[in-house]
Amino acid sequence: MTSVVIILGPPGAGKGTQAVRLAAEFGLPHISTGDLFRENLSNETELGELAKTYMEAGKLVPDEVVIDMLFGRVAQDDCTGGYLLDGFPRTVAQAEALSDRLSEEWTTRTMQLDVPDEVLVDRASGRLLCKGCGNIHHEQFKAPAKEGVCDACEGELYKRADDAAETVKERLEVYHSETKPLIQYYGERGMLDVVDGSRTPDEVYTDLRALLTTSKASEQEVT
Ligand code: AMP
Repeated sequence: MTSVVIILGPPGAGKGTQAVRLAAEFGLPHISTGDLFRENLSNETELGELAKTYMEAGKLVPDEVVIDMLFGRVAQDDCTGGYLLDGFPRTVAQAEALSDRLSEEWTTRTMQLDVPDEVLVDRASGRLLCKGCGNIHHEQFKAPAKEGVCDACEGELYKRADDAAETVKERLEVYHSETKPLIQYYGERGMLDVVDGSRTPDEVYTDLRALLTTSKASEQEVT
């Protein structure tokens, strides 16, 4: 049985932080569509150019563009045994495209990080990313030992342009209108587990890990 693990949640919920840990522990490739777009942006590819305006405005990149990029990535050899998705799907159309792609031997586990809006703006706007390993620090909640330097790999830390408070608010609005319907989509299919993401990263991780190590009734084959 091969599994797709999906981490759902609003911007700043901790999807990236948790996904990095889960992927390492469960030996799954961590596929973040946001990271793929950022890579394309820094390599100045055509896809990066196309995504740039949407990302800077806090809007979603059009479904067909994201789906093509994601399917290209998960067709690679390292994903044949399963993979962990962070930031995809973000619309019902993306979820349907993924479901259509997966054959019967695949199972899907969807875990929603539930965090109130008021916590999210503070979390996202203080976020610091590592250019080297993708590790995530935070100015207040997880400050690096040495300013501007990643604790894990000593890479350079930077702030995402779309983590500015105004853009985070726009991203939250987009989340509510476009992505939240996925809670119902996966919930109705018995494929959703909800975890309280407002606690410490370690507490959240303990719950996510437990969900992945137990075979739950909610684990459904994607049809
Ligand atoms: P993230 O790093 O997941 O917060 O994504 C950063 C930005 O990339 C988002 O605000 C979108 O502009 C774009 N993006 C990432 N994933 C998707 C997706 N699944 N659908 C549409 N746009 C996406």
